[in-house]
Parts: sequence; C-alpha cells; structure tokens
Amino acid sequence: MGEIQCQGCGAVIQTTNPEEAGYAPASALEREDIICKRCFRLKHYNEVQDVPFQDDDFLEMLNQISDTKGLVVQLVDIFDFNGSFISGLKRLTGNNPVILVGNKMDVLPKSVNHGKVKHWLKRSAKENGLEVEDVYLISAEKNQGIQQLSQAIEQYREGGDVYVVGTTNVGKSTFINTLISNTSGVKDAITTSYFPGTTLGFIDIPLDETSSLYDTPGVIQRHQMAHYVSDKDLKLITPRKEVKPKVYQLNEEQTLFVGGLARLDFETGERSSFVCHFSNELNIHRTKLEKADELYENHLGELLSPPDPDTMTKLPPLKGHTLKIKEDKTDIVFSGLGWVTVPEGGITVTAHVPEGVKVSLRESLI
Ligand code: GDP
Repeated sequence: MGEIQCQGCGAVIQTTNPEEAGYAPASALEREDIICKRCFRLKHYNEVQDVPFQDDDFLEMLNQISDTKGLVVQLVDIFDFNGSFISGLKRLTGNNPVILVGNKMDVLPKSVNHGKVKHWLKRSAKENGLEVEDVYLISAEKNQGIQQLSQAIEQYREGGDVYVVGTTNVGKSTFINTLISNTSGVKDAITTSYFPGTTLGFIDIPLDETSSLYDTPGVIQRHQMAHYVSDKDLKLITPRKEVKPKVYQLNEEQTLFVGGLARLDFETGERSSFVCHFSNELNIHRTKLEKADELYENHLGELLSPPDPDTMTKLPPLKGHTLKIKEDKTDIVFSGLGWVTVPEGGITVTAHVPEGVKVSLRESLI
C-alpha cells in the first residue's frame, strides 16, 4: 500500500499508534476522503485533541497564511491573554493585517472599563511583537459585539479572505458559529454541517463567490492553565457568569490561596485591600504567610481545592514570582485564572503559580 495523506492536515496516515500524528482507525481507510482521527474530531465534533500534534505542526500550518493575502482575526481569551496569545503571529502571517478580538467579555465584572481592556490588549499584543489594526471585545456565546466586529471584518478584508486564528479554548468555534448564525440563520454550523477541509488543513466557509472565511486549527499553548487541570476543574476555574469581585483586607505577612492552584503572599507594605477577580466557584482561603507552606503541604486537594485528584497528577509545582508594585491601581494577573487588584502601590507581593503559567502586572482595568 502506498502512502496516504490526511486530507485535513496532510500527515501521513498510519493505523498503529493513536498517540502519533496521522492516526486513523483501520476502518477509516475504506472511506474515500481519508482524514486522521484528529482532523475527524475537529471537523465533526469541534474537539481538539491535544496529543498527536506538536505545537510546531500547528504553527507550520498557520505559517502558510503568510504566502496568501487576507485579513487575520486573532481571538484571545480576556481571562487568559498570556495563555491564549499566539506569539510569533506576525512572523507566521506575514504582512497581512490583524484584528485582535478579546472574547468572553460577558464574564467581566460590571466595574471593568471596556476602553481600558482594549487598550491593555493592544499594548500587550505590541509587547509581543504584533501591531494590530484594531481591537474588539465580544462575547461569542452571548452574541455581544459581533455585529460591530463583522462590520470591521468586512471593511478590513477589502473583498479578500479571512483567517480566524486562536489557541484552543478561546471560543473560536463558538465565535464562528455565532457569526454564521447571524448572517445565515444556521445554528451550530461547524459542528453539524460539513465544511470541506482545505489542503492547508483549514475549514473553508464561503463568504461570497470569490472569498472565504477559514477556521484554522486551535494552536496548543503548553503553558496554558487549561492544559494542567482536569475537565472538572476547568469548568470550575472558568468563569461562566459575571465575575463578582471579592475583597480582602490584608496585613503584611498574610497569604491568599486561590483554591490550591495559585497563592499570593503579601510580603511588605501598609494594610491594603486585595480585590480578587476569579470564577465565583473558586474558593479563596486566607492564612498567615508563616503557615502557608504547611497548609499547602497538608491540605492540598482538600481545604485548598481545586486541584482534584486528576489535576494533582499533572499540575506542575507552584513557582513564586516576587513583584514590587509601585503604581496605584494595579492588577496582578494570573493567566487563565483571573486577577487581583490592589488600590495602592508601594507594596511587595509574591505570586505563586504552576511553573510555566504566567504572572504579570497591568494598570487596573477598573
Ligand atoms: P475553541 O477551542 O476555541 O473552539 O473554543 P470553544 O468555542 O469550544 O469554547 C471554549 C469554551 O469557552 C467553551 O466552554 C465555551 O462555552 C466557552 N466560551 C466560548 N465563547 C464564550 C463567551 O463569549 N463567553 C463565555 N463566558 N464563554 C465562552
């Protein structure tokens, strides 16, 4: 038998190792258009499997955009900018214009200023080497901001193609489905109907006679919090409703645990409030700094949960990042979890997160 390539991603089809690229069950070989299991799931269930592909393969796929002309729409999760921003996008997509879209705005607390969120997204993209044409905030799920974004896409694409890119879990499928449903009335288009895969491994959704919107595979960021936790814990840490800020007044040498997934030590400074913005389901536990290590060692997964037992098997150890906060109204951002706002500068904190997960400071969004 000669070599057969997957019609979706181009990997050589093999039937022996489900963990490797190009795996398809033997029964799939009887079909006409053979696609690997991964592309099959992506196409039919919109499920992205993490295992068979290395990040490089995805990036290589996206790199093909640089040889074409079109508008790139990059989706990021507002709660996980660092985990959901595709670094190197500029190199991957060449000179094509990029619109940055912050998704999941529906869970932002009311107190958050949307202008500041946009400003922060734009600046963060720039710090990561990407100049964007514009920034939009949407809720793909609640159909907010989509109309404005559609108009911008129409304007910027100048009759050309559109490539929607994003890491897994940013809401890319939800977004494309909402977009299609708004224009055609068809619900859940990419999960239920069959859009052909292209040789680039993208899903091709016609916009008009000459141009298409392409859904590209979700890029996997290894250090995304979402990959370190069980499905059950992911549901818990992902805000589903508007986040209700929780305020703690702390003296120095006190610690807040965010479940057992992150920890914030107030090292030095005047008594201060710490306004926590995390999923409403996530428990915050306050303790003395001197007791924090012991508490973590003895009560992880119990008093300090999540992690559940499944998450505990894959969660990297916590790593501390000491931050001197100079400015008033600063957010300490725990990528993929949420953030803590401190109203006044002049304090030092240590933020602990699973190794690889990013902690950063930004001007408060409030
Ligand atoms: P994809 O992997 O990028 O295709 O992401 P999905 O479309 O499968 O969405 C990932 C998760 O984010 C799902 O649990 C969605 O329900 C959720 N999600 C998507 N869009 C939104 C949104 O606008 N707001 C909120 N709160 N959740 C969203």
